[in-house]
Amino acid sequence: MHKEDPQLRAYFARASFLKSAPDPAHLPADRGAEIAFAGRSNAGKSSALNALCAQKTLARASKRPGRTQLLNVFVLDESKRLVDLPGYGYAEAPKEMRQNWGLVMDEYFSSRQSLKLTVLMMDIRHPLRPFDEMLIESCTARGLPVHVLLTKADKLSRGAAMGVLQKLRHALPEGVSVQLFSVLSGQGIEEARGFLRGVLEEHGQAEVPAEES
Ligand code: GDP
Repeated sequence: MHKEDPQLRAYFARASFLKSAPDPAHLPADRGAEIAFAGRSNAGKSSALNALCAQKTLARASKRPGRTQLLNVFVLDESKRLVDLPGYGYAEAPKEMRQNWGLVMDEYFSSRQSLKLTVLMMDIRHPLRPFDEMLIESCTARGLPVHVLLTKADKLSRGAAMGVLQKLRHALPEGVSVQLFSVLSGQGIEEARGFLRGVLEEHGQAEVPAEES
């Protein structure tokens, strides 16, 4: 089956919940490296976060629209964070709430210096919906890379899943990578962890605090 590197697992298993921020202004200081998790509601974002961090209840985000408008911050250490963004695409959410979502996300993507990667969860059976395209555009416009997890890959045959993967590899713009992912079979968890650790290690070196006078 899918082998796990215990060190790589432990790297993410140390993740712990820090806080929920109502907007980017309430996030921790903009230092170190941050990776954002985004996706349509029901794309498998909570399941992916929990699987990557080898924890059952890390991402407890409520499924109710009113409770999803928060940025949930998890820390690996003082200079490395994972941020669970509000799920988008709730048909039943009020219009103002959806508009507000767009504004909050734009503000976050354009201003957050420590944000080094967005992980975008897309159900392999419904990839690249308009909201996904909008989000990819927001990120790539400011040179922020996006890594797409094609979730629930177990729902398709191996051949069909590979077909979607190849198609997206061609369709996605530069700066956007893509892989298969399934929490059910374990496919792609190791690959995603390796990719994310690479980003965090490249950008998330702890800064030596200036000596206080
Ligand atoms: P979120 O709204 O994006 O956080 O999505 P959830 O993580 O809550 O998942 C939505 C639904 O998809 C749940 O019923 C999960 O059990 C299911 N799901 C998530 N990941 C997988 C997967 O890898 N395989 C399958 N078959 N179902 C999954």
